[in-house]
Amino acid sequence: MDSTTPVRIIGAGLAGCEAAWQCARRGVQVELFEMRPVRSTPAHHTADFAELVCSNSLKSSSENTAPWLLKEEMRRADSLLLEIARLTAVPAGHALAVDRALFAAQITDAVSNHPNITVRREEATAIDANALTIIATGPLTSEALSQEIARLVAPPLSVAPPLSSPSLAGQGGGVPSSHLYFYDSISPIVEADSIDRSRVYMAARYDKGSADYINCPMTREEYDRFYDALLSAQPVEEKDWEKLNYFESCLPIEEIARRGRDTLRFGPMKPVGLIDPRSGQRPYAVVQLRQENLRADSYNIVGFQNHLRFPEQARVFRLIPGMENARFLRYGQIHRNTYINAPTLLGPTLQMKTHPRIMFAGQISGVEGYVESIATGLLAGMNAVMLARGNDPLPPPRETAFGSLVNYITASESKNFQPANITFDLLLPLENRIRDRAERHKAQCDRALKALDAWLAEYEPQLERKSATSERIPAQRLGEKF
Ligand SMILES: Cc1cc2nc3c(=O)[nH]c(=O)nc-3n(C[C@H](O)[C@H](O)[C@H](O)COP(=O)(O)OP(=O)(O)OC[C@H]3O[C@@H](n4cnc5c(N)ncnc54)[C@H](O)[C@@H]3O)c2cc1C
Repeated sequence: MDSTTPVRIIGAGLAGCEAAWQCARRGVQVELFEMRPVRSTPAHHTADFAELVCSNSLKSSSENTAPWLLKEEMRRADSLLLEIARLTAVPAGHALAVDRALFAAQITDAVSNHPNITVRREEATAIDANALTIIATGPLTSEALSQEIARLVAPPLSVAPPLSSPSLAGQGGGVPSSHLYFYDSISPIVEADSIDRSRVYMAARYDKGSADYINCPMTREEYDRFYDALLSAQPVEEKDWEKLNYFESCLPIEEIARRGRDTLRFGPMKPVGLIDPRSGQRPYAVVQLRQENLRADSYNIVGFQNHLRFPEQARVFRLIPGMENARFLRYGQIHRNTYINAPTLLGPTLQMKTHPRIMFAGQISGVEGYVESIATGLLAGMNAVMLARGNDPLPPPRETAFGSLVNYITASESKNFQPANITFDLLLPLENRIRDRAERHKAQCDRALKALDAWLAEYEPQLERKSATSERIPAQRLGEKF
């Protein structure tokens, strides 16, 4: 056994599980804290690790897209969660989507049965700044720990206060300068056999990938009727703390609709590239449904996150052609999103500048999205291995998607900092600009992967990846579940 300092990881979500695995597989002891099921969050429904709380998609698998690049870098760095995602994938055209129950079960199994990981099913409420710790408690970090983090990062740099905090009352859409948070939303899921197949068609946009999406086409009259019903639908009772900013790339559907009668037709209901094979025509608007699980017995309504009362959701969404008798397995919701002001607090190895034994990973570190959360968990895990052995971690190269994400959260303007997904905007521009977009992206991806390979070649020996304690994922055991 490795005689290194144990690593404390708080939160067995996407980032925490990946971080734990990266440490444990290299012989570093991990103490992993997860508060569920003792205490749950408003969005999680199970006691499983790495539960996906909304969409089941890990974004595009199309080569030379930014989400693909990030996943490719994770694959090359031996990400456990990415491998399990591939093993539990469901058909989703050019996206990597998973059966969420299998995905979480496989991860729970692999992580909790690892001999180097001790799982503590309890809420962590205190942080010892001298203990090597990765905080990966996600956007729904418990109130007690939020307060502890606020203490650790000290004003004016802190996280969201508890929802009950009177300091937010009456803010009226403003974000207090010493606290950062906003609200995200989740989209509804319906039972597959409650969809009227005679009214819908299967297709992928521009026929890209296989035709895995159910498309509900709308005429102009149907769209107008739906739009009017949506605008007049009753929202969930608004509290003062809900008058805060929504995250722009995850707006509730009714909020998008309020921006103009046609805004939805240029957003989540856009019909371009979705010709109805029965008529040969492009519908006026389209609602897309994406398969939720391998059994294909449930579908989520893509982009329909909302903040409406549940009966109102049922009433309005049943106006969508094909969904007249839809049975809802889950309704849309709004939730809290807590994250730190990373540009002020973190260095390029995800260590706190003021408390270098503490690292942040996942959504709380200022990235947005499942894959980005896993990626920062992977990096924090690798870095924790180095720190546990008394060595300095090595930040990823700026050219890579890893390096670009880290650069975004640590080197952005700290004022008005908002979490971000990986995009080409975050990647380092090419020295000689290529006009053709596809060629430019390919060149950026090629450069990133070359830099990544060189970095891994330098870093891996230092991480003792090839030591006797190093492990790969037990594929056979994972495969047995299917
Ligand atoms: C409702 C909702 C919907 C979202 N939808 C999407 C989406 O569709 N697509 C997308 O890409 N991203 C989405 N996100 C954003 C983000 O990608 C996910 O939240 C993702 O799960 C973040 O990963 P994480 O590891 O940072 O946190 P999580 O996966 O949330 O893991 C954090 C873990 O920490 C535990 N925890 C919290 N506090 C404590 C404590 N004090 N002690 C011990 N354990 C604790 C929690 O129980 C949880 O298991 C959504 C976020 C939310 C909240």
